[in-house]
Amino acid sequence: MNGQVILVVEDEPAIREGIRILLGGEGYVVLEAPSGEDALSQMNDAVDLVILDIMLPGMSGIKVCEEIRKVSNVPILFLTAKSQERDKTLGLMAGGDDYLSKPFSYAELIARVKAQLRRYTVYRGKHQSLSLDTEQVLTSGRLKVALDRNEAWKDDTPLNLTEIEYSILSLLIKHPQKIFSTHDIYESVWNEPYSYSANSTIMVHIRRLRTKIEDDPQNPAYIKNVWGKGYRYETEKNV
Ligand code: CA
Repeated sequence: MNGQVILVVEDEPAIREGIRILLGGEGYVVLEAPSGEDALSQMNDAVDLVILDIMLPGMSGIKVCEEIRKVSNVPILFLTAKSQERDKTLGLMAGGDDYLSKPFSYAELIARVKAQLRRYTVYRGKHQSLSLDTEQVLTSGRLKVALDRNEAWKDDTPLNLTEIEYSILSLLIKHPQKIFSTHDIYESVWNEPYSYSANSTIMVHIRRLRTKIEDDPQNPAYIKNVWGKGYRYETEKNV
């Protein structure tokens, strides 16, 4: 038993059951919710990952995600119908970390779950003891990023970043002025082989990150687009 807790929100009993058996067999504690309302009533700090179907009766998965994001940075993996390309973008905009198109293989599901939990554990130190003796905080003008856990501040106000947003920001801020292609960002943040469809995923996460760190997200001062090449973090003297 590894004991990590996964909340599965899915109205189709057969899919929910399949996920429960699979993840249960891997040693996870699986909580099941057939609706968004039920999911929110089960949400608490013990949940390490949420698997969230977008198409739910009553409250939609997107709305559930927005509600969870008001109180938690827990990783959220969306389940979407393959044809609903638009849903993927909506899901990521609402605060989701990744998505899986139905039908998916169990191997894919396990891989995504593990990738999300690994990131969450590494950056939150949730199930690991943190070395608290060294304060590893990188300061860049008005922004500060803790390098050993998911915490970042602007003007000393916590930014409340999701794991992905934090990972992108810390990657860029550690290498100011260096241009990162979407390929570079995807492989180091997602830790998975790049494919062309990753471009829109990265774009959405960067847009969300900008709404949190930039004074004017439409005219970003920190994370600049370098057209045709990727993204670059501007050092404070240039901001
Ligand atoms: Ca459904």
